[in-house]
Amino acid sequence: MNDTEVLVLGGGAAGLFCAFQAGLLGRQVTVLDHGAKLGRKILISGGGRCNFTNLGASPANYLSNNPHFARSALARYTPQDFISLVKKHGIPFHEKTLGQQFCDRSAKDILEMLLKECADAGVTIRTGTTVERVTKADRFTVHTSAGPWTADRVIVATGGLSLPTIGATGIGYDIARSFGIPIVDPVAALVPFTLGPAEIRPELAGVAFDAHVVVGKTRFREAVLITHRGLSGPAILQASSYWNPGQDVAIDLFPGGDLGEALAAAHGSKAQILTHLATLLPRRLAEARCLGQQGTTPLNALAPPTLRRLGQEWQHWTLHPAGTEGWRTAEVTRGGVDTAALSSKTMEARDVPGLHFIGEVVDVTGWLGGYNFQWAWASGAAAAEACGW
Ligand SMILES: Cc1cc2nc3c(=O)[nH]c(=O)nc-3n(C[C@H](O)[C@H](O)[C@H](O)COP(=O)(O)OP(=O)(O)OC[C@H]3O[C@@H](n4cnc5c(N)ncnc54)[C@H](O)[C@@H]3O)c2cc1C
Repeated sequence: MNDTEVLVLGGGAAGLFCAFQAGLLGRQVTVLDHGAKLGRKILISGGGRCNFTNLGASPANYLSNNPHFARSALARYTPQDFISLVKKHGIPFHEKTLGQQFCDRSAKDILEMLLKECADAGVTIRTGTTVERVTKADRFTVHTSAGPWTADRVIVATGGLSLPTIGATGIGYDIARSFGIPIVDPVAALVPFTLGPAEIRPELAGVAFDAHVVVGKTRFREAVLITHRGLSGPAILQASSYWNPGQDVAIDLFPGGDLGEALAAAHGSKAQILTHLATLLPRRLAEARCLGQQGTTPLNALAPPTLRRLGQEWQHWTLHPAGTEGWRTAEVTRGGVDTAALSSKTMEARDVPGLHFIGEVVDVTGWLGGYNFQWAWASGAAAAEACGW
């Protein structure tokens, strides 16, 4: 029988980070992962450059049934702490925008850093080992495809459901349920919207513009991208995390300005109005808006009050997403292990001493922009601290 003090299930961002932190506290730590390689999401993150943290990370940047749950862990392991680690390894990085920190070279730098820290801390790693279930008597037994493991403490870091093609499974939720721990329904988040036939605009696919996107009471100002099947871009991905089926999404494609006034001020022929409109909006979108008037009165024949109303209508573009692109493309999972069942200090299940849940498997979901990795590091650090018993 294989035996260890601390068994970490899942060798992604949270699992690897927690493993070496616990190893540094002198614990015997083993990481199990079913993949042939570890940290596959790290490698594809941030377009291959890993947006590894965000300087502004605070509980306000996370969704959870308990918005206060992330506070303690985020305060104890900060973006600056992770940046110090990155600097210690001499990894070049830069700030892209809005506090987002990216590797200059490649996300591989972050994965190699975590693996080196694990090696230095004496962590044992077993790839190609599928976790099947966990039981507890005096100690824990983790049943795997490579036989059982026993351990004093089990850290579940098996992530969420997005991108099943690179190893995502629902095993973390199954383990929680088997111990009577509730799950907040997992939903695909940070994901493009699909639109129905009446709203889809494939002829505009590839057009991007700055916009305010509003869903319910939440609004984001970033880029929107029209796709062949619907909408994407950072502002849409952010909004998707707050969206529930049936809800409208409002897009202000002239944020901070008044498109109605701008249109009313544009005189002349249709071509002149189009030229003017193209200074305010991407040209293809402007053209589509002008051409969209075919069959009705040409723009240049409209009176200023009508142009004003039209501009306001365009500015408040309301869409009814048919759905999202789902787990195939979602960057994260909203929902997960119910935080009401966990200690916010140690990520330990209140009713199952020694069983911890960290990273994306927990019902804490970050915005786009490095917040999800910061949660992986912070929740991993919190659980590791508890391993110093
Ligand atoms: C395309 C993409 C880009 C992203 N870019 C960013 C970014 O730039 N910045 C950011 O902050 N976040 C980003 N994210 C989100 C971020 O990658 C995740 O939030 C983060 O990886 C979660 O870490 P985790 O360790 O909890 O889970 P994961 O990294 O998903 O790790 C879970 C591990 O568990 C293993 N596992 C699953 N089931 C089993 C099983 N049954 N047995 C054994 N092992 C199992 C998996 O193989 C995996 O290695 C991105 C996500 C995607 C999909």
